[in-house]
Amino acid sequence: MERFKHFFKFLIREELEIQHRLMNIILSVGVFALIVCMLFDFVVGTGARTYWILLLLIFCFLLSLYLANALNKPNAAGVVLSVVCNYFLMPILFFAEGGKESAMPMWLMLGALFTWLIVRGWVVVLIYAGNMAVCAAVLMADYYHPELVSRMTDRKAEYFDYMFAVAGVVLVFGIIFKFQSRIYEQKRKELEQKESELIEVNLNLEKANEAKTTFLARMSHEIRTPINAVIGMNEMILRESSEWDIVNYAQSIETASHTLLALINDILDFSKIESGQMRIIPEEYELYSLLNDCYSMLEMRAKDKGLTLKLDYNKDIPSGLLGDEIRIRQIITNLLTNAVKYTDAGSITFKVDYNKKNDEEINLVISVADTGRGISKEGLEEIFESFKRADERQNRNIEGTGLGLAITRQLTDLMNGSINVESEKGRGSVFTVTIPQKVVSGEPLGAITERVDEKSRTGINYRESFKAPDARILVVDDVPVNYKIVKLLLKNTGIQIVTAESGRECLEKYNSDHYDIVLLDHMMPEMDGIETLREIKKLEKYTKEHTPVIALTANAIQGAQKEYIDAGFDDYLTKPVQGADLERMIVRYLPKELINK
Ligand code: ADP
Repeated sequence: MERFKHFFKFLIREELEIQHRLMNIILSVGVFALIVCMLFDFVVGTGARTYWILLLLIFCFLLSLYLANALNKPNAAGVVLSVVCNYFLMPILFFAEGGKESAMPMWLMLGALFTWLIVRGWVVVLIYAGNMAVCAAVLMADYYHPELVSRMTDRKAEYFDYMFAVAGVVLVFGIIFKFQSRIYEQKRKELEQKESELIEVNLNLEKANEAKTTFLARMSHEIRTPINAVIGMNEMILRESSEWDIVNYAQSIETASHTLLALINDILDFSKIESGQMRIIPEEYELYSLLNDCYSMLEMRAKDKGLTLKLDYNKDIPSGLLGDEIRIRQIITNLLTNAVKYTDAGSITFKVDYNKKNDEEINLVISVADTGRGISKEGLEEIFESFKRADERQNRNIEGTGLGLAITRQLTDLMNGSINVESEKGRGSVFTVTIPQKVVSGEPLGAITERVDEKSRTGINYRESFKAPDARILVVDDVPVNYKIVKLLLKNTGIQIVTAESGRECLEKYNSDHYDIVLLDHMMPEMDGIETLREIKKLEKYTKEHTPVIALTANAIQGAQKEYIDAGFDDYLTKPVQGADLERMIVRYLPKELINK
C-alpha cells in the first residue's frame, strides 16, 4: 500500500505540468476501473472477447503511462491513447457489449472528453473530429445492421451496466474536478503569498530608497557646509588680494571647489531621477537670456584652453517660451562643458535652431559640435549610461564621473525630447538635443548682443553692486563660519548684520529689534528654520508688519524651491552662496529707500 501511495505521489508530483498530472491520474484511475470492470464482467459472465478487449485497454493505459513518464512524452501518450481507445477499442466494445442500448455511448462520450483533457495543441481538434465520425459510424451500423451488435440478453445486467457506467463517469469527472480545483486553490494561495511577499519587498525597497535619499540629503548638507566656507572665504581672497600669486592660487581653489560642487549636484540629480523625484517645472522664460548666459558661462573656459566658442542661432526662433529653463540650461551646460573638456584644439559651435510643430509649439534644436577627440564606436554605445566613461585610456587626463550625459539623457526624456550624437574618433563630435517647448511670445529672437555675465566674472575686479548702510539684516545659522561668510560677502555694501546661532536666539532678536530681511538656515538643531519661520509668522500677526524671510540652505535635494516657498519663505538661496547671488537677492527684498546705488 505504501509503495502504491508513493508511486501515485510520483505520478502527480509538482514539477509536472497540470495536463500531464491530470493524464497520470486518469490513466491510473482508468487502469483500476478496468480491472474492476473485468471483475464485474466475470460476475455477469460476458464473453472472452470482452476480456481481451479490456486487457488490451489496460495494456494501452499502461503503455501511455510509460510513454508519458519514462520517456517524458505526455502529449504523444495522449494522442496514442485517444486514437487507439476511441478509434479501435471502444467501437469494438460497442459491438461486443450491447450497442446503443448498453452504456457504451456513455463510455464513448467519456473517451472523447478525455481527448480534450489530455491532448494539447491543434491536433485535439483533428482527433475530436475523428471521434465524432467514429461515433456516427458505429451508431449508423447499429441502426442499419443491428445483426452486427451482440445485445445483452439479461435485462438486469443491462441496468447494472448502466449504473456502473454512470458511477464510473461521475467518479472520473469528480476526481478531475476535485484535482483541478485543488490545483487552482493551491495556485491562488501561492499567488496570494507571493503578492504579500512582493508588497513587503516593495515596502523594503521604498524604505531603502528613502534611506538613500535621506542619506544623500544629509551628505549634500554636510559637504556643502565646508564647501560654503571654502568658496566664501576664497571669494574674499579674490576680492581683497592684489598679489598675483595669491590670486592665482585662489583661482585654482575656486575651480576645484566648483568642480566638487558640480559633482555633488550631479550625484543629487542622479539620485533624484532614479527615485522618480525629478520634476520638470515649466515656466515662461526668455530664450535670449538662456542662450546668452550659457554662452558667456562657457566662453571664458573655452578661451582659457585656446578654443573658440561660436554661437550660431536662428534669429527667427520665438523669443518667449514655456518650459523648464533650469533643466535646459543644465543640458546645454553639460554639452558645452564636455565639448570644452574633450577638445584640445580648434573650435566649438553652439548652434540653436527650431522647427515649428504647430502654432503653439516648437521643437528647440540645440546642437554642440566640437573639433575634439571624438568617441570610438564602442564608446558611443555606452556614453549615456550612468557612471560609464568612453575611451578611458584616451581621456585619462580628463576629470569626470560619467554622470553628465546620463543626466542629460534622462532630462531630455522627461521633457519628451531626444538626444543623439555623431562622432568620429580624432575628428570631433556633434551632440544634438531636440526639446518641445510651448511658445509664449512669437516675436522673433533677433540679434543677441553679448551681455557680460555677472556670475562668471565676479572675482578679481569685484565691486559691490549697491550700498545700504542703514539696512539691517538678521542672519541665522548654527554654524558660525556660515554667517561669518555672509557678513564678509556683504561687507562692502555697508549693511548692518546681526547674527543668531539658533532658532530661539533668532526669535529673541527678531522680537526686540527691527530687521529689513531675515536670512534663515533650514537645518538647525532643536528648532529648525521652518519651525522658526512659523513662530515669526505668528509674531507678524500681532505686529501686522512683514519682514522678508529668505531660506539660506544647504539642502538641495528635495525640490528645494517649492518646499521653501510652500513653507512660507519669501525666497531661497542655496549654499555655497556666491557674493553676486547674495547681493542680487538682498537688493530685491530691501526697501528701495535704503539702497544707494
Ligand atoms: P564625464 O563626467 O566622464 O565627462 P559624461 O557623462 O558627461 O561624463 O560623458 C560620458 C563620456 O562620453 C565621457 O567620459 C567621454 O568619454 C564621452 N564624451 C562626452 N562628450 C564628449 C565630447 N564632446 N567629445 C568626446 N567625448 C565625449
